[in-house]
Parts: sequence; C-alpha cells; structure tokens
Amino acid sequence: MILSRNTKNPGLSHGEYYGMLAAAGWQAVDLNETCFPERLIENENYIHEVAAAARGAGLVIGQCHAPMSFALQNSTPEAVENRICEIERCIAIADELDIPYTIVHPFFYNWNTEDPDPAFTEDVNIRYLRRLCDAAKKTVICLENMPACGFITNGKEMKAMLEQVGCDKLMVCLDTGLLFFCGGKTSVFFAEVGGRIRTLHLHDSAPGHDLHLLPYTGRGDWNDLKETLRRYDYSGTLNSESDFSCRMPADRRLKWECIEREIITSLLE
Ligand SMILES: [Zn+2]
Repeated sequence: MILSRNTKNPGLSHGEYYGMLAAAGWQAVDLNETCFPERLIENENYIHEVAAAARGAGLVIGQCHAPMSFALQNSTPEAVENRICEIERCIAIADELDIPYTIVHPFFYNWNTEDPDPAFTEDVNIRYLRRLCDAAKKTVICLENMPACGFITNGKEMKAMLEQVGCDKLMVCLDTGLLFFCGGKTSVFFAEVGGRIRTLHLHDSAPGHDLHLLPYTGRGDWNDLKETLRRYDYSGTLNSESDFSCRMPADRRLKWECIEREIITSLLE
C-alpha cells in the first residue's frame, strides 16, 4: 500500500513542496499535467528536474498522469495523432524514470453530448489503448474513469472496454471524485473490475460536479469505499487529489497536508 499525493503546488518550489509532503508523511507523489508543459518533448529536462526534486525529498514517484486525451467532436485526426504521440512519449519517460503506473484517459465524443457514432469512438479507443500497451515496457497503463462524456463513466463500461482492448497488461485507475460526479458507488465499480484496479485517485464531489474536496466533505459514500477496500483486500496506491491544502496560505500548508494524510490513512483502518 502506498500513500501518495498529487503534485499541485502553487506558491512553492518543487523542492519545498515535496519536502513538505515528506514531512506530512506522504510516501509517494504523481507527476501530472502541472509537471508537463504544453510541449512535453521540448521540455524533457524539466520533467527530470521535477522527478529529481521529488526523489531528493525521499519520495517515490508512484505514478505518471499522462496528458489528457480530449473530445473527438471538433478534433482533427492530426490533433488526435499528436496527442497520442505525446502520451507515448510520457510512457517512455515513465519507463526511463522507473515509474510503475501511467494513468491515461479515453478519447470521447464530447462533454454532455450524445455520441452519434459510439462504434467509431470505441474503435478509436481500442486502437489507441492497444498502441499504449505496446509502447509500455515496464510502466503499467491504467485507464481512468471519466465524468459527463457518456463513456467509461462506470464499472460496466470500463469492463466492456478492457474486454474489447483484450490486453492483459491494461489496468484501471478509479477516480472517486469522477465516480461520485456520475452518482456512482465504489462497491459497484469494484464488483465489475476490482481485480484490475491498481491506483485510486481520492477526492470527494457531488453529482454533476468535479469539486476535488476532502473525503467526507462532499456527497460520496466513504463508508462504502472503506468497506469495499477491506472486502477486496485492496493493496494498490491511494493517491489523494483534493484541492484542500493548496488553497491554504503556503506557510500553513504543512498542517493541512498532515490532516489530509491522516484522513487518507483512516480509509484503510
Ligand atoms: Zn484522477
């Protein structure tokens, strides 16, 4: 079990931020979009500097959150291909840096819009995910659930996609905030794909919203989550993604990080 925090550090240098996370008792961090500048390939040195700062503070880099995939409705095939190449580059960096998991999202038709051709969207994703699985040498690709796009928003849709891709290496990242956004429950999601969940992105929310709240402060069912982790003997990563402490003044954040780490730890008790 690894207690992990996402990298989100307004007002602090990477060294200061990771030092604070280590002092608060976190064991690992992710590298996510806030570490990946717009043109990932031209800024590779930057990502190595961020990784060195995390490791210098004694933290493991437990996962790498690849650049977001996006809506297909108004995207050209070239834009989709470019983004897939960036995600593949991110996978190569994760392999170089020995980062065990790389989190990816599906391409989807559009937010809050019915897809006129779901078979096409499925086909784009099957080919994209097979390509990512082929690109990954050591890092394990984890597909994350989505909100408000009518695609991979629950365990049933996740299971169907895993079956269609047909790659045993493809695992799952369950984002609780996005699940609660869609009115879902952890136990129901685990019942479909529990054996393939390797990382959890933990934050609270309410139906129709992506709020990044601390556990127990939104509308998610955290007792159901706790009970489910116990029942499945979950031993993967717990990555906290609340925006709670990063909204606090920088000189007070250690205290709030300690509270957040305690709440996340309590989910396993
Ligand atoms: Zn997430």
